[in-house]
Amino acid sequence: MTDTPTQLFIGGAWVDAADGATMPVDDPATGEILCHVADAGPKDARLAEDAAVQAQQEWARTAPRARSEILRRAYEIILDRVDELAHLMTSEMGKPLAEARGEVAYAAEFFRWFSEEAVRIDGGGGILPDGRNRMLLSRRPVGPCLLITPWNFPLAMGTRKIGPAIAAGCTMILKPAPQTPLSSLALAAILKEAGLPDGVLNVVTTSRAGEVCEPLLRGGRIRKLSFTGSTQVGRILLAQSADAVVRTSMELGGNAPFIVFDDADLDVAVDGAMLAKMRNMGEACTAANRFFAHSSVADEFGRRLAERMGALVVGPGTRDGVDVGPLIDRTGRAKVEELVADAVERGAEVLVGGRTPEGPGSFYPPTVLAGVDPESRLMDTEIFGPVAPILTFDDEDEVVRRANDTPWGLVGYVFTEGLERALRVSERLEVGMVGLNTGLVSNPAAPFGGVKQSGLGREGGRVGIEEFLEYQYLAVPVR
Ligand code: NAP
Repeated sequence: MTDTPTQLFIGGAWVDAADGATMPVDDPATGEILCHVADAGPKDARLAEDAAVQAQQEWARTAPRARSEILRRAYEIILDRVDELAHLMTSEMGKPLAEARGEVAYAAEFFRWFSEEAVRIDGGGGILPDGRNRMLLSRRPVGPCLLITPWNFPLAMGTRKIGPAIAAGCTMILKPAPQTPLSSLALAAILKEAGLPDGVLNVVTTSRAGEVCEPLLRGGRIRKLSFTGSTQVGRILLAQSADAVVRTSMELGGNAPFIVFDDADLDVAVDGAMLAKMRNMGEACTAANRFFAHSSVADEFGRRLAERMGALVVGPGTRDGVDVGPLIDRTGRAKVEELVADAVERGAEVLVGGRTPEGPGSFYPPTVLAGVDPESRLMDTEIFGPVAPILTFDDEDEVVRRANDTPWGLVGYVFTEGLERALRVSERLEVGMVGLNTGLVSNPAAPFGGVKQSGLGREGGRVGIEEFLEYQYLAVPVR
């Protein structure tokens, strides 16, 4: 902790907020303050914007190989410091160390992937139909970007945006979530060490997100917004982006269905459920939110899932052997408690969990609810906690209709041994991603993103860099 930067990172320098403001960072396992970091205001945002705008032209001209190698070096530094970064992440966010190490490796992988993509930015060209005119197509960086990230994956949500932005030749301002600024500040220090020129990345930590970001979006100099967070905030930012016609990528909320057919291998389905529900204590946009089990297997599936969930060890993420850390804060936990209470009032049976433990921190136990009423609030709310509500269904058309009956469309999970059914149901689900007999879809080499109100655009994969590039078409008549 002692070496972790706590100031703003602007133009390659570590600086205090102009008005000297700071904000506390809490440890969710104890509720105690870990440290204070700079709390930026609009003036600091303006300085970060100046730095990004000033650095843009030269950065765009930097050789793709040079950009690639900076990312590659940063990837290697991150891997050298997995333990250090994992401890930092666990202390500010709560996830168990093993999961934090997994996220650090996952986060680093975006830098490796985009270091490889930086040198594969293609253009194009050709003879136009009239046979006389030629066209030359080149790809240009979209320009200075504003990147806004949530607290649930403090490092990976940053690298998933910073990686392609650097690869494409964009400069940027990163605004991390106020609960987890330390991972982003540590990342900025690593990129500086890896040779990133001053001003290319600026990090602005703040408790005043609206005041800091709105002028940037409306001001006309920021050309791109890449946001990961809730659909509710996404809508506000889309509206703010309209004035200056800012290009947007939006990774928003989810309400993932998890469907277990009567021909599913239940061992595989329960393994998948543990991953899809319990990764990050359920605080993931990809978390399975609604479990639909065929009525002939629902009891057995529920029994096995409850057994596995009940065996998980809850405690501070830094303690050996802990599987489930605290939720991000007590507000997040209160929401989970209310959703469970509502489901129970409507007749759900608690197979395991469901009781908030005494003591400090924001812990909540792994919980399985059976016989959940479809009208329960957790059916149309992101639970963001370790709660698996199970409903039953009897036929394929019915479950597809119910799975799609939501404004969100990020990911769905399908468990069946039937190939045709697997393909048919996957194609009918209104989602951007499907986990087929698996509870994990995230991979830096795959396009991550949703449809409907889960977002716009994709991150990762071959298309991840496209979000940060524009086409320039050159018309060339040949006489
Ligand atoms: P959130 O409340 O929407 O906040 C996300 C980020 O936006 C934070 O940095 C937040 O800062 C900032 N923000 C909020 N209001 C803002 C405003 N008016 N102007 C500028 N920035 C603003 O979401 P969260 O609770 O941190 O994260 C959980 C949500 O993220 C869930 O809905 C989850 O599904 C979604 N998520 C989606 C993906 C995906 O890839 N689709 C991945 C991870 C998470 P403040 O907290 O200071 O307001």
